[in-house]
Amino acid sequence: MRPIQARISLGALAHNLRIARNHAGRARIFAVVKANAYGHGLSRARRALASADGFAVLTLEEAANLRLMGVQQPILLLEGLFGADEIATCSELDLWPVLHHAAQLDWLQRLPPARPIQVFLKFDSGMHRLGFPLEEHASIVKRVRNLPGVAGVTLMTHFAQADEAVGVDWQLQPFLREMAEHALPWSSANSAALLRYPEAQGTWVRPGLMLYGASPFAEVSAEELELRPVMTLQSEIISVQTLKAGEAVGYGQLYRADHAMRVGVVACGYADGYPQNAPTGTPIVVNGRLTRTIGRVSMDMLTVDLDGCADAGVGAPVVLWGEGLPVDSVAAAARTSSYELLCALAARVSVQETD
Ligand SMILES: *Cc1c(COP(=O)(O)O)cnc(C)c1O
Repeated sequence: MRPIQARISLGALAHNLRIARNHAGRARIFAVVKANAYGHGLSRARRALASADGFAVLTLEEAANLRLMGVQQPILLLEGLFGADEIATCSELDLWPVLHHAAQLDWLQRLPPARPIQVFLKFDSGMHRLGFPLEEHASIVKRVRNLPGVAGVTLMTHFAQADEAVGVDWQLQPFLREMAEHALPWSSANSAALLRYPEAQGTWVRPGLMLYGASPFAEVSAEELELRPVMTLQSEIISVQTLKAGEAVGYGQLYRADHAMRVGVVACGYADGYPQNAPTGTPIVVNGRLTRTIGRVSMDMLTVDLDGCADAGVGAPVVLWGEGLPVDSVAAAARTSSYELLCALAARVSVQETD
């Protein structure tokens, strides 16, 4: 069997939820499990995060799956209704859609569900992606509160730069100022805001990334945030080559040896979810030792520098990211994000659950 495997630690997920809880104060926590729980598997995330106050997903299908799995907590649909036909299911399964544009209000007006639903009403406080303009809050809130199909309203916004130095104030303060008169529950914080801005907590927080043990901040490690890696992508060396000085390795012959060196071939490639644009020098752990990738990542393999890993031969264990090598470091080297790496884990990689 091909030796690549993703080990997923349920204990680490539960631990990271406790860290979120420590930051959340009295706010309730929606564990964000969209995109197959950021690549970790919806069902196992649900089990490990069973003590969350709610779950947040993207689609009706994910939400319905969570209900089938026995989830009793509130389920938030982060992009709300994609069509009027989804209203009845929201009502039947008690799903809470985010309402962020006028067509969704029209659908609800036209087809009010028999059992009224809880909704999150999203305002655009500066991200300019989803949400009603903040200036229109008076009329929008009034309209939504008066819709016969709506049982309750929570106000919501989303931050564009919670992970950066500029932070959330430029969005949070106008949002809170305009929303104050409505005296309704509210929600704003993703992982970065939850970790850094207690004033952004509100009624519900919505952490995703931190639950999976990655850091939203470029300059603060997951370890410093007391988060534990959940996914460890591991494989083995399946071949060892010896390059003479002047010889190069792999497609494009991108890495050329300037001295005789041993090269390990690892059973992991971009078809497994490893980023193809990870350049020479991307950190990787072989036999417990930190080394680097060299040359271009291929579909099913990548190559590593075995200088300094004299004891590593065929069968030597390799950690691509996870325990012993933060996914954030690999993401930084590959000029992508840990979000993208985790979500991109390919279906062909077998998964092993651990405690
Ligand atoms: C994905 C998402 C989150 C979670 O963000 P993280 O940065 O992963 O914590 C929170 N809120 C909304 C609206 C989202 O779409």
